[in-house]
Amino acid sequence: MPSLEPPRMGEPYLLTPGPLTTSYAVKAAMLRDHGSWDSDFRAMTADIRARLVALLGDPAFDCVPLQGSGSFAVEAMLGSFIPRGGVALVLANGAYGQRAATALRVMGRAVRVLDKGDFAPPRGAEVAAILADDPAITHVVAIHCETSSGILNPLPEIAQAVDGAGRRLLVDSMSAFGGVPFDTTEIPCDALVSSANKCIEGVPGFGFVLARREVLEAAKGNAHSLALDIHAQWAELERSGQWRYTPPTHTIAAFAEALRLHEAEGGIPARHARYCANRDTLVAGMRGLGFATLLADEWLSPIITTFHAPADPAFEFDAFYDAMKARGFIIYPGKLTAVDSFRLGHIGQMDSAVMARVVAAVADSMAALGVGDCRPAPAALAAGEVA
Ligand SMILES: *Cc1c(COP(=O)(O)O)cnc(C)c1O
Repeated sequence: MPSLEPPRMGEPYLLTPGPLTTSYAVKAAMLRDHGSWDSDFRAMTADIRARLVALLGDPAFDCVPLQGSGSFAVEAMLGSFIPRGGVALVLANGAYGQRAATALRVMGRAVRVLDKGDFAPPRGAEVAAILADDPAITHVVAIHCETSSGILNPLPEIAQAVDGAGRRLLVDSMSAFGGVPFDTTEIPCDALVSSANKCIEGVPGFGFVLARREVLEAAKGNAHSLALDIHAQWAELERSGQWRYTPPTHTIAAFAEALRLHEAEGGIPARHARYCANRDTLVAGMRGLGFATLLADEWLSPIITTFHAPADPAFEFDAFYDAMKARGFIIYPGKLTAVDSFRLGHIGQMDSAVMARVVAAVADSMAALGVGDCRPAPAALAAGEVA
C-alpha cells in the first residue's frame, strides 16, 4: 500500500464520512480547467464510468454519474426506477432511510416504511413477511451503511428476501461502496447509488448510480423531474459522451485521480482492510478510555462509529469539538433521537497510526474539559442495545 501523507498546510483531519480527508494528488488534479465538450474530458467521464462498473464487477450494470450531492442521486434513482404506479417499501433505521421515504413522498410515489427507529437493523425475515402480506409492493429501498448511527445493515439477507419474493431492490450504498465489498450475486439488486466524496475519497460534487442495463432501458419516462432523470442522463452519455448539463469538471478530474489511487491501493479489499483496521484501533482505544460504542461489535461498520457521550457532567459536545479541532481533528455530532452521542468517522486518507493519534487527542481533550470518567449513563447503554 502506498503510504499516506498527512494533510498539508495545517489542515485538520476530517473524521467525518464525507467530505473527508483527501490526498494531495486528488486536490492537485483540480488545478486545471476542462471544457465539458472537449474529447479529453469526455474520455475522462467514460473512464470513470468503466472503472466504477469494474469495481462492482458485474458487466450487466452500467454507471450513470449525476451532478449534485449524494441525495440528488438517491432521489434520481428512486424517481427513475420506481414507476409512477409502483409501491416502495423503505427499510429505515436512521436519517438516510427517513430521507429516502421523504423523497418518495415529495415525488408522489406510494411508500410504506418499515421504521426500526434510530439503529435497529431491518432483518431478512421481517422483510420477507411484509412482502408476503403486501403484494402491492413493487420495490424495496435499503440503506447499506446507515451513516447516522454507523450500522452496517444486513444487506445480503435483505436482498435475498426481496429476490425470493420477486420484488426489485434499490440500495443506498452511499457511504459503503468502494470501502465495503458489494457482490451482486450475494446482493441481487436493480441499482445502487454512491457519491464522489465517500469511500472513493474524492471531493463533493456528484453522485453515481450503478444499475442493470435492462433497468436503465426500462426507465424512460418514469422520472418526476427534468434534471434528476437517470435514464435521460444515461441516454445522453451513451449518445454523445457528455453529461446533460454543466458537469462539475474539477470534481470529476479529482475523482478520476481518486479512482486511480483506489486501484493502486489494491481496490475494495485493500480499502476495506484499511478502514476496518482504522475502526479497530479507534474502538479499542476509545474503550480503553472508558467510552462505549452505541452498537455491539457485530454491527459496527468500517465507515463511522457512534460513541455514547460520557455521563460526567463536565462533558459538553461543543467544548469537546473545539478541543479536538485544536488538536487537528474535526469530529461529528451524533444523530440519534434517544441517546446523547457523538460520531467519529474512519474513512479518508488515514491509517491506524492516525487513529491512535485520534485516541490520544480524545484523552487529552477529556483532561482539558475536566471529564474524569468517560463511561455513559447505564440507562443510555441499555437504550443502545439492539433487540
Ligand atoms: C452521505 C450519505 C447520503 C447523501 O448525503 P448528501 O449529504 O446528500 O451527500 C445518502 N445516504 C447515506 C447513507 C449517506 O451516508
